[in-house]
Amino acid sequence: MHIRLSHAVIVATAAFAVSSCQTPDKAVMTTVAPPPDRIVAAENEPQNWLSHGRTYSEQRFSPLAAINSGNVAGLKLAWSYEFDTRRGQEATPLVVDGVMYTTSAWSKVQAIDAVTGKLLWQYDPEVPGESAVNGCCDVVNRGVAYWEGKLFVGTFDGRLIALDARTGAVLWSTLTVDPSKPYTITGAPRVVKGKVLIGNGGAELGVRGYISAYDARTGKMAWRFYTVPGEPGVKDGAASDAILEKLAGPTWKGEWWKLGGGGTVWDSMSYDPELDLLYVGVGNGSPWNAAIRSPGGGDNLFLSSIIALRPDTGEYVWHYQEVPGDQWDYTATQQMILADLMIDGKPRKVLMQAPKNGFFYVLDRETGKLISAEPFVKLNWASGVDLTTGRPNINPEARYNLTGKTWVAMPGSLGAHSWQSMSYSPQTGLVYIPTQEIGFPYISDPDYRHHKRGINLGVDLDAVSMPDDDAARKQIVDSAKGYLMAWDPVHQREMWRAPYLGPDNGGTLATAGGLVFEGDATGGFHAYDAGNGKELWSFPAQTGIIAAPITYSVGGKQYVTIVTGWGGIYALLGGEMALKTGRHPKIGRVLTFTLDGKASLPPTSAEPLTLFDIPRQFGTPAMIAEGKARYHRTCVGCHGDSAVSPGVLPDLRYSTAINDKDLWYSIVGDGALTSQGMVGFKADLSPEAIEAIRSYIISRTLRLPEAKKGS
Ligand code: CA
Repeated sequence: MHIRLSHAVIVATAAFAVSSCQTPDKAVMTTVAPPPDRIVAAENEPQNWLSHGRTYSEQRFSPLAAINSGNVAGLKLAWSYEFDTRRGQEATPLVVDGVMYTTSAWSKVQAIDAVTGKLLWQYDPEVPGESAVNGCCDVVNRGVAYWEGKLFVGTFDGRLIALDARTGAVLWSTLTVDPSKPYTITGAPRVVKGKVLIGNGGAELGVRGYISAYDARTGKMAWRFYTVPGEPGVKDGAASDAILEKLAGPTWKGEWWKLGGGGTVWDSMSYDPELDLLYVGVGNGSPWNAAIRSPGGGDNLFLSSIIALRPDTGEYVWHYQEVPGDQWDYTATQQMILADLMIDGKPRKVLMQAPKNGFFYVLDRETGKLISAEPFVKLNWASGVDLTTGRPNINPEARYNLTGKTWVAMPGSLGAHSWQSMSYSPQTGLVYIPTQEIGFPYISDPDYRHHKRGINLGVDLDAVSMPDDDAARKQIVDSAKGYLMAWDPVHQREMWRAPYLGPDNGGTLATAGGLVFEGDATGGFHAYDAGNGKELWSFPAQTGIIAAPITYSVGGKQYVTIVTGWGGIYALLGGEMALKTGRHPKIGRVLTFTLDGKASLPPTSAEPLTLFDIPRQFGTPAMIAEGKARYHRTCVGCHGDSAVSPGVLPDLRYSTAINDKDLWYSIVGDGALTSQGMVGFKADLSPEAIEAIRSYIISRTLRLPEAKKGS
C-alpha cells in the first residue's frame, strides 16, 4: 500500500515537473488546485464562527474551553451594542478574525469590532415598511453568510445582496423572488462551493417554495430547485423539472398551483463536503388545509421533507418526507445536524432533525433512509413512525378537514421545536433542543376565500381564539410550556431538562467547556452543565431572547455573544399566552461576555400602556361578532389573539384611533401608516368590515380594568 502510494506521488510529481518545464508560468498557475474553502475546514478555526451553524455540520458546538463549567459562574458582560431597530432579533452573528458580522430586524447588517463592541459599519438595505405585511412572522433576519471577504444577506423583500466585508459596500444585488407575490427572506444564506444558497418564506400567505444558488462572485443565478410542482404541463426550466414531473406531480390534486402550494425553504440547510450533498429543509403547505390545497388528498411532495441535492447543479439525490399531506404547519425546516454516531455498534453518518411535529428523526444522510424516529414531546397527531416505510401512522381524528371537527393538536402549529437552533456536543453525545409544548386547535374555515393581503390558511383562527371564560383562558396559558431538553439521539431518550416560564425561548450553543448556553423568553441568558443540566450562570438581559448564542476568541481570549430582542411569530400572535413571559422593553442588542468583563446595561423598562380616552361601544352584537371574525382572519398575525398585543406591535385596545371612524379607516383601509408597516386593507375588507373590526376592538378595550375603573 505504502509503495503504491509513493509510486503514485512520484508519477504525479514527475508529470507536474514535465508540464511546468514545457508550459508558460501562467498556465502552470491555473493547473494548481485553488486553496480549499475556509468554511470546509472551519473546524480548524475554533477562534472564528464562519458559518451560520459554525461549520457545515450545523452542530453549533465550539471546541473553545477557556470558559468552562469550572469558571462560568464568573462570566461578565464585556460590551453591548444597541441596534437601531426594535422588532424581533433572530440573528446568529458570524465572527471572522476579530470582526463580528450580524444582522438586525429589517435585514440590516452590522460589522462590529468583536473585542470592543464598536460599530465598524452598518448596511441598511432600506426594506420598504409595507413589505412587513408579506411576512407571517415579524420582519426578522437570522444572519449573513461569509465567503472570501464577502458577506451575503437575504433581505425581507426578497433581494440577495453581496457586501464587501471590510467596508459594507454593495458588490452586487439580485432579486430572488417575484415581487408581485408575498415572498419574504428571513433566513441566513449559506455558501457552498462558491455558490450562495437562499430560499424564502410565504407559505402562510400563498407562494410556491424553492431554493436558488447564485454565483458568489457575480450574483448570477446558477440553478433553482422548486419544492412543489407548478401548473401541469408548464416547465420551469429549473433543476427540479424532471423529479417534480416524475415523483412529486402525481402526489397533488386539484389546482394547487394557483395559490402556490407552499413548501418554502425558509431556514435550514446543511452540507456534507465528503458526500457532496446539500440538505434542504422544506416547509408546510399553502394553504394549511389539505382539502383546499389538494382536494382528494395525496402526499403533496416535497412538503415537510428533507431533500438532498448536488450543490453544483441542484440535481435531486434523495428525499425523506416527514409528514405526507401535511396540514398542521409541520415544517421540516428546522435545523439539520450532521454527525457521525455509533448506532447498534456501527458508525453511521447521520442527519438529525427535531422538527415542529415532535418526533426526533435520525436519518442515514448518504441514502436518506430513516434510522429512527421517536417523540421528544407528548404528541397526538401520530402514533409512531413506521421504520420500514418511513411514514407516520397518522391519527385519523387529526385530519380536521375530513372530520369537520376541531382537532386540538399536540404539538400545535408553533411546533415542539421551531427555527431556534439546537446544538450537538460530540463530548456528551447529546442534542440540546429548545423545546416547547403549545397545543393548537385546528378547524376548517367554512368561509375560506383567498385574501390578497395577509394569511391564507384555510383554518378558522376566529373559532379557535382565546375563550372569554377566565378559567378556560388560564388553563390554556398555563399549558404553554418551554424548556431546554438534552436528548440522547442514539437511544432516542431524554436525559435532562431545564424548565422556563413559557415557550419560545432562544437557540442553544454547546461548548467543549462542558457548557450549554441558552437565552429565554423572559430575558434570562443561562449557562448549564452540558452533562446534567445544572444551571451554572445566568444574566438578566432586560428583554426576551429568541436568537442563538455563539462563542469565539480573539488574541486567545474567549467571548460568548447573544443577540437579544423580543419578537417573532409567538410574540406577535400569542396574545395572553405570550404575555406570560412579560411585556418587554422594545430594545435589541448584541451582548458579549468574557471572564473579565466590566460593562453593565443601562436600566430599562417596558413603556407603559396608557388608555387616554375610554371609547364608547357602538354596533350590534352581530356587528361585534363580525368584527371579531374579521380581526382573527386579517389582523391577528401582527396584533395578537383577541386584540391582546404582547408588546412588539401596538396593542389596538389602547389606540386613540379607535375613537374616530375616519381616522380608523384612513389607517386600516387607506394605509395612512404604510411606511411604518401598517398597509391598508381595503382590497380585502369593505368599509363595513373595517368598522366592524373597530367595534370589536372597542369591546375588548372596555374589558380592560382601567376602562372599567374610568367609566
Ligand atoms: Ca409555516
